[in-house]
Formats: sequence, C-alpha cells, structure tokens
Amino acid sequence: MSHFTRRSFLKVAGITGAATFTGIGCAPSDSQASNGAHVVVVGGGSGGATAAKYLKQFSPTLRVTLIEPNATYYTCYGSNWVLSGFASMDDIAQTYDSLRDNHGIEVVADRVTAVDAENRRVHLQGGDRVSYDRLIMSPGIDFNYDSVEGISESDAEAIPHAWKAGDQTRLLRDQLEEMPNGGVFVMVAPPNPFRCPPGPYERVSLIAHYFKQHKPRSKIIVLDAKDGFSKQGLFEEGWAEHYGDMIEWRAASEGGLVEAVDVAEKTARADSGFERVKADVMNFIPRQRAGKIVRDAGLVNDEGWVPVNQQTFKTEADANVYVLGDASVAGAMPKSGHSANNQGKIVAAAVVRELSDQEPLNPSSANTCYSLVTPNHGISVAAVYQYKDGAQSGVEGAGGVSPSGASAEFRAREAGYTQGWYNGITADIWG
Ligand code: FAD
Repeated sequence: MSHFTRRSFLKVAGITGAATFTGIGCAPSDSQASNGAHVVVVGGGSGGATAAKYLKQFSPTLRVTLIEPNATYYTCYGSNWVLSGFASMDDIAQTYDSLRDNHGIEVVADRVTAVDAENRRVHLQGGDRVSYDRLIMSPGIDFNYDSVEGISESDAEAIPHAWKAGDQTRLLRDQLEEMPNGGVFVMVAPPNPFRCPPGPYERVSLIAHYFKQHKPRSKIIVLDAKDGFSKQGLFEEGWAEHYGDMIEWRAASEGGLVEAVDVAEKTARADSGFERVKADVMNFIPRQRAGKIVRDAGLVNDEGWVPVNQQTFKTEADANVYVLGDASVAGAMPKSGHSANNQGKIVAAAVVRELSDQEPLNPSSANTCYSLVTPNHGISVAAVYQYKDGAQSGVEGAGGVSPSGASAEFRAREAGYTQGWYNGITADIWG
C-alpha cells in the first residue's frame, strides 16, 4: 500500500530536488495550482484513477471529476488467476469509494460519448455536459476484428476474448469448467502492440495448471500472430517443467497466424498449407487499438493509438487534452497497469505544474510485470524509463528479467511478490 502523502511528496522533492517515479519533485502550492481550475478525468482504470488521485495529492484544492460508467472495476491483472480457479472475481474487484470519500474526487457514473474540444466540455451518455480546464483520458483499449475473417465483436459470447476483465472473465471460466477432460483449448494470440505482452502466456500457463488438476488429458494450442513473445524462454522452461507437452505454441510463421475463424464449428484456419485447428473452447484475443472515445475525438494516428508528448502525455492534437495508459504511444513503455499507474503520476504532475505556469519535469518511471507459471512459480521483467530524445526510453543497466534455471524456492518467492505487487498497486490506484 502506498503511504505517499502530499507531505512526504514535498519532503522527497525538497530533499532530493530530483524527479523519480515515486517522487515527482517540486509541487506547486495549492493556490498556485488550482486557481479554480477543473480537471476532468475519463476512465477509472489503472491510468485514470491514478491520475485523479494524484492530482488531488499534488494539489488538494483542485477540482477533480472522474467519469467512469462502471461502479466496480475488475482488474485484468489477476484475471488469469480467476480463470485458473484459485482466485475469485471478488479478489480482483475495485471500487471508487475511497477516491470519493477519502480523496475528495467527484466520481460520476456515466460514459463520455463526445469531446467538444472547442468549448472544452465532454458530453455524457446520460445527457449532461461537463466543462473542463484540462481533460485527461485513459480509456484503455478496444478491439479490431477486421484482420480475421468470419469473426466479429458480436461473437464474443461464443468465443470470449476475456481481455477486458469482468463478464468476459466469468464467461471463459464457465466454458473451461464445462469443457470435458481430453478437450482442446485454443488461444488465438494477438499481434503487437497489445495490452500486457506476457498476459496470453501467463493465461495458458494457469489454464494448464487448472487442467493438470481437473482435466489432465486436455491439450492447449496457442496460435500466435507473432514469432516470439515476452519472457518466452522463462515460460517455455516452466511449461516443460510443470506441464510436459500439454501446451503447444505455434509461431506465426509456422501456422500460428490465423486468417479465419468458423465460430459455429470453433475452428481456426491459418494461411494455406496448414490444417484447421478445432477447439472445444476458444479464446480469441483480437488485434487492439485505443478506446473508442479517443478515436472519435480524432486523437489517434493511422494505427489507432494516440501520439502524445511523451514527457507530459499531452496530446499532439489538442493542448488541453492528455491521454495516457494503453491508449497512448509511450515509447518503450509496455501497455501495462504498472506503466499506466506511473504515467498517471506523470500526467498529474504535468497538469498541476502547467496550471501554475511551471515547466514540466522529466521524471523517471518504471514497469514491472510479474507472471505466474503456476501459483507457486513466478517470473518477472522490470525496466526503468525516462523521457529522452522525444520518447520514453529504457534506462540502460536498470531492470532485468528473472534468471533461467532458478531454484523452486526462488520461483516461489517471485510468486509471493506477485501478490504483493497486486496489493500494492491496487492500493496506490484505488485505495
Ligand atoms: P483500463 O485499466 O482498461 O481502464 C480504462 C477505463 O476507461 C475502464 O474502466 C473503462 O470503463 C473506462 N472508459 C472507457 N471508455 C470510456 C468512456 N467513453 N467514458 C468513460 N469511461 C470510459 N498489467 C500489469 O501491469 N501487470 C499485470 O500483471 C497485468 N496483467 C494483465 C493480465 C491480463 C489478462 C490483461 C488483459 C491485462 C493485464 N495487464 C497487466 C494490463 C493492464 O490491465 C492494462 O495495461 C491497464 O489496465 C491499462 O490501464 P488503462 O487506464 O489504459 O485502461
């Protein structure tokens, strides 16, 4: 849990004079910063909720409104634990009570349907209009099914993506429970860039863990749109150790690149020359792009992501609008909850400083991604980033990955850190 209060923040700034991801230095005073300003934050996920909370930490008299349609946010992190059966949906549920009750943020349960940039206001589905001085958006991702024939968003009931946690997680879990012993689970893994680079491979690991206990004759096939993936060596080492040949991964160039899906038959077809693959349960994770609201607002590039000034996350298209998290183009930072959380603090500091006519800082930030191969076997990758030459760039010599060939005790300790990471980051964002 973060104990990072405004007082300790000022202390860090005062003592070090430096800017880091845990202490973004040199806060302006409240009166300087707020000046009656109203900051509206769209999306109460990892990035938006962090930005809202840290705006108030950095400038308690600022008016901050967070607009999010869902009363409960289910973290994608931990959703693979639910699929495996050793965590429940309640374990990954977060609410906005603390942000509202303890941090003075106005939480509006609605969806933003349009941004009126000229008049600096957003339109809500419920009919209201909300004016802003600065707008921060962290709407996450949407899917693009166009590149694969035969399947569309409306098929997500029959063939779930479970790449936004909530009902989709429950649905996939139900399908796994109903699958017979000896059945085949097929995952269609997405092309880059997508949210949580190690996520698909943690998912098949933990589904294998479930199968090993309850349906040991079952098989897992990953049809991948890529020829390699995050922490591949560590995952493959763990699969061999725990699951024998239960998991088969097919690279894009070896029949993994899916061109068509037959939803009724639950088959996937790669390009010609490769046989159709028949599933009992299929998990199709589509190609991704930024959430609809930033696309509708005209903020995205041709690839569907939002270009920003990567020092402050201010959009290139609109000087009053900031976009962070998965939706943004953030240099070397992966699309992860940890990145979005760090970016939320960078944006909050940038907005507070801008509102009090101060130059932006150049804070460093970090990402750590823990993945479980079994509930007792954790692996991780970590990196530190700083804005350099126009982009968030990895700091040389900082970070690293878990070693290969480590002992069972080492893997178990990393599995423990995984839960600790979850508890810490969710408390920092929504606590
Ligand atoms: P989100 O957290 O998705 O938040 C977006 C929010 O915006 C949502 O609440 C949505 O309702 C809201 N919204 C969207 N449109 C509107 C609108 N028009 N009006 C109002 N609100 C709107 N990351 C890690 O760091 N570690 C992990 O271990 C990890 N594991 C993962 C495992 C899986 C299976 C998956 C799928 C992801 C994982 N991630 C992990 C990635 C992480 O979940 C995302 O990168 C992170 O949530 C991105 O934050 P965000 O703020 O960009 O988007």
